[in-house]
Amino acid sequence: MDTSDFVLQSVPPDGPRPLLLVRIKAHRMNPYYFTILSMEFFGPRVHWTGERTSPCFKAREKCPGCKLKAPGKWLGYLHCLDEHGKECLLELTNRAAKMLLASVPKNRVLRGLKISVQRTEGGKHGRLCATCCGVVPNQQALPAPKDPLHTLLYLWGLKEDLDEPWSELLA
Ligand SMILES: [Zn+2]
Repeated sequence: MDTSDFVLQSVPPDGPRPLLLVRIKAHRMNPYYFTILSMEFFGPRVHWTGERTSPCFKAREKCPGCKLKAPGKWLGYLHCLDEHGKECLLELTNRAAKMLLASVPKNRVLRGLKISVQRTEGGKHGRLCATCCGVVPNQQALPAPKDPLHTLLYLWGLKEDLDEPWSELLA
């Protein structure tokens, strides 16, 4: 028996696999439905640098996006269950997130809410809309919320990319 018999790795393995990142990019007749697992939005300010989104860093001198004077925007992420009961990370625009928050009582924890999400007609220029459409009866039975950061590090190119696909655009 020698070392070739064992599963060995010289660097500690990374954490769990990223969640499936879901971005709704086109209009569909029926909305998509999700159940929110997160307690609240995970809302980073990001830059679009022409190729990908990257997070805005508090220290501006260390922020590649700020250095490039790339435009910035807020995006809201929620750990959810999709219609098939699969865990995912849903990306909402500023407007869609405000719309969602306006449809629930102020300061209510988002976990356990059922939401419908849809882009209006007009292709990628259609507006993303999100509203609360119900509450899960037994919230104890839902999977525990996961921190979106782990998945976003992959999106932002701050973690090595994986061979298998882990994001999808819904049309
Ligand atoms: Zn920045």
